[in-house]
Amino acid sequence: MTKFKKILAVVLAGAMLMAFAACGDKNSSSETESKNDTQSAATEAGDSATTDEPAGEPKYATAGKLTMATNASFPPYEYYENEQIIGIDAEVAALIADKLGVELEIKDMEFGSIIGAVQTGAVDIGMAGMTVTEDRLKTIDFTDSYATAVQVIIVKEDSEIASADDLEGKTVGVQENTTGDIYATDDLGEGNVKRYNKGNDAVAALASGVVDAVIIDNEPAKSFVAANDGLKILDTSYADEQYAIAVSKDNKGLTEAINKALSELKEDGSLDKIVEKYIPAE
Ligand code: GLN
Repeated sequence: MTKFKKILAVVLAGAMLMAFAACGDKNSSSETESKNDTQSAATEAGDSATTDEPAGEPKYATAGKLTMATNASFPPYEYYENEQIIGIDAEVAALIADKLGVELEIKDMEFGSIIGAVQTGAVDIGMAGMTVTEDRLKTIDFTDSYATAVQVIIVKEDSEIASADDLEGKTVGVQENTTGDIYATDDLGEGNVKRYNKGNDAVAALASGVVDAVIIDNEPAKSFVAANDGLKILDTSYADEQYAIAVSKDNKGLTEAINKALSELKEDGSLDKIVEKYIPAE
């Protein structure tokens, strides 16, 4: 059992208690996210629209449009091809917009700006391979999950780092404000983490020897490693996560409508079809 797995086992045991504490007093719960968050949060995300109050009609920032915030440097979920944002999230969002009877508009921004944009209602949804966490659920709602992901460790092919335990005392590159950033900072300490705007910049820093490893989501990791010589993904997962769509807490009607659309897309195989298009089975 790695050190990180041990930590996970311990925090999982406390997850229920923390969830209760969070209900009782929002301010008393810790500001720090930990790996257990995604486990319990994922369950909670599915419940977000099933409150006693009627959800009401979806509200839109711009009438007739579903405005989606993303960070289009996260292949295969969202990235540019010929000046157009494509990827799993972009295609799933387009099908959701279709079902809602509105047009999809995608706004590209820094990953760290997405939740704020959703919260203030500047955009309707945040869809960016975004992991459900307890901390994020304090400020926004999440729809049901539409994908699972794993945080992985990328190193140079000849690296002496072979597991999460070996990261201690090393410098790790992450994409700012992502769960990789949060976990690395929690586990290794502020001084051992270098933050980059884009995952690819963190990977470039690894390739040029500025950092010793990168912690990032598995699918972008595969794509970044394929594009850079001499790197590999370690065969140990750092954390398991659920991706979902962020919606304002003031827009329960939209969360509910998206959940309905998502369940139809899961049921009729459309979601799987999009995933297979971008992530061909190995
Ligand atoms: N899944 C990670 C997170 O939610 C990274 C997402 C991203 O970089 N687009 O923090």
